[in-house]
Amino acid sequence: MYSFIVRVILIVSLLFGLPSGAQARALEEQIVAFTFDWDDNIFRMPTKIMVFHKQTGKEMPISTAEFAQVRSEIGKSGTKYADYEIQGAYATGSMRYFGDGSEDGSARFQKDMDTAMAGPPDSWKGPVWDDFAVAMSREATASHTWLITARLHAAGTIHAALSELCKRGLIEHVPPVANIWPVCDPDFPGRFRITFGVEPPPGNASNPSLRKAAVMEQILDQIEHTPLPASAPEVIGPDGKGKGRFHLWGFSDDDHGNVEKAIEIVQKGLDSGRWKMIKATIFFTGKKAQEAFPCAVTLSCGGKPRPYLEGGEWKKILEQSIGTTNETQKISGK
Ligand SMILES: [Mg+2]
Repeated sequence: MYSFIVRVILIVSLLFGLPSGAQARALEEQIVAFTFDWDDNIFRMPTKIMVFHKQTGKEMPISTAEFAQVRSEIGKSGTKYADYEIQGAYATGSMRYFGDGSEDGSARFQKDMDTAMAGPPDSWKGPVWDDFAVAMSREATASHTWLITARLHAAGTIHAALSELCKRGLIEHVPPVANIWPVCDPDFPGRFRITFGVEPPPGNASNPSLRKAAVMEQILDQIEHTPLPASAPEVIGPDGKGKGRFHLWGFSDDDHGNVEKAIEIVQKGLDSGRWKMIKATIFFTGKKAQEAFPCAVTLSCGGKPRPYLEGGEWKKILEQSIGTTNETQKISGK
C-alpha cells in the first residue's frame, strides 16, 4: 500500500511538477479565433421584434434584418417608426420572443430555428454560415469560437440548439457554453462580473453595442495572454506592412451600429498597447442604407482601419496547425 502511494505521488509530481518553462511551452498556441453575431449573420431566424404604437398599444412585428437597419428610428419624429416604441418587459415586451420568458419558454429558440429550416433549402443560412461551419469543423477552433448576440436567452438555451445542429450533422463540434454571450440575458450583468471580474456596461436589446464590445475586450485579453510559439507561421502585419507572428481574431455582425462600436473599442485598446499580439479584423455582413457593403477592416495600433485584403490567410494558418480538411478548403476570405 505504501509503495502504491509513493508511486501515485511520483506520477503526480511528474505530471504537475514540470519546470515552469515547460509548462509555459505547453500552453503556447497561435489562436485563430472566430467571434460571431447570430441573427442574420450565422442564421436567418424568423423571430420578430414587436414594436408598440404609442397611442393605441397595437403591436407591429419587425424582422431582425430590418431592425438592424432602423433601430435608431423607432420613436424618432420624421421617421416611419415615429409613433412606435420599444417596451422592455422581459416576458411581454418587444423582445419577448428573443428570450426564454415567452409562453414557449426556452423552447422558443429551437422552435424558431426549426421554422427557418423548414423553408427553402439553405434559406436559413446567414452570410457567414460557411465560416461558422469551418470554425466548428475542429474541436480546437470550436473552443476558440465565441457567439455574442443581443438575444435575451440563457447561454445554455443557445448551446442546446447548437448541440442539436451537431446531432443533425450540420456542424461537427460546438463552442463551450462559456463562449456564448447573449448580452441582453437578464443574468448577463452578474455573469459578466463573475467571469471577468469587472463591471459590465449598460445595455439592452435595442442598444446592445457597448455590451457586445465589452465581451470582445475580454476575449481579446484572453487571447493576448496566450504565448505565441516561435514556430507560428507569419502573417501580414495588422498595419498591412511587413510580416510577423500574431493571433488572428475576427468579429462579424450584420448590424452597422455594432460594427462601428466594435471598431471604436478595439481601436482604442490597440492604440493603448493592450493587444500587441493580435491581428484584429472586423467584418460587416449586413446592409447599410444607401451604401453597398459588406466590408472587412483590419485594425492596428496608431493606424486607421484598413481594408482587409489578405484573403486566404486564416485558411493558411488553420491548415498549418490542424492539417487540410474539406472544411478549411471552403474558407475563401478568412
Ligand atoms: Mg445580427
